[in-house]
Amino acid sequence: MRKKLLVGNWKMNGRRVMANELCAAIVNEMQNLKNIDVALCPPFILLDEARKMTAGSECMLGAQDLDMHDDGAYTGQVSAGMLKDAGCEWVIIGHSERRTLFGETNLTVGKKTKQALNRGLKPIVCVGETEDERKTGQETSIVQEQLQSVIDEIGIDSCKDITIAYEPVWAIGTGLTATPEEAQGMHSFIRKQLRSQHDETAKACRILYGGSMKQNNASSLLGCPDIDGGLIGGASLNADEFLGICRSA
Ligand code: PEP
Repeated sequence: MRKKLLVGNWKMNGRRVMANELCAAIVNEMQNLKNIDVALCPPFILLDEARKMTAGSECMLGAQDLDMHDDGAYTGQVSAGMLKDAGCEWVIIGHSERRTLFGETNLTVGKKTKQALNRGLKPIVCVGETEDERKTGQETSIVQEQLQSVIDEIGIDSCKDITIAYEPVWAIGTGLTATPEEAQGMHSFIRKQLRSQHDETAKACRILYGGSMKQNNASSLLGCPDIDGGLIGGASLNADEFLGICRSA
């Protein structure tokens, strides 16, 4: 039985006061959220604030990206070692905003995933098709290619240590959510891709759904057999919404 995982992706939002209040509200509810895993991914600059606020609680911390290299002359970048030092366990890799706005490719996503694993972070690898790709019936081939390039880089045995987030690009921040049938269909397709290469990995690997998940649609999505949690953007900035989603899990 895979434990549900709910991850809040704050994106480029927040100040210290907001981080303080949001973390305090979530930590306060953690004792009532048994049998699920919860992680928060604030911007790098708020990690320390979030670490202080979540210290001693079950609420885990993650980052939204990392550099593929170890420490060195990479101005503006943040290494896996720095993230570990800041208290991160998790790191989101290959979010569609990083792919479309910052030129990340399947190759860089694979390399970052390998770097995270090698340095003891748990990668949450994002995959998902655009609206055009779905309209033209390419959604499964796009997702298959995105996932396979990560598998080729890290090896199928290491896939048990990654979490996959299926995030249809057309559903991110748009208020449009994949129906439970659409989401379950893609999650099952992803699990089949893993199973065809390694049965145990397919059973162990958590596959999260992301894309306008809210309190009012969470339970139908999280009730699907291959949906093992959520990667939540906008709704994770509101403690009541985020906690509502967590309770549905
Ligand atoms: C995300 O950024 O990963 C995301 C799913 O955003 P939203 O929930 O706002 O659609």
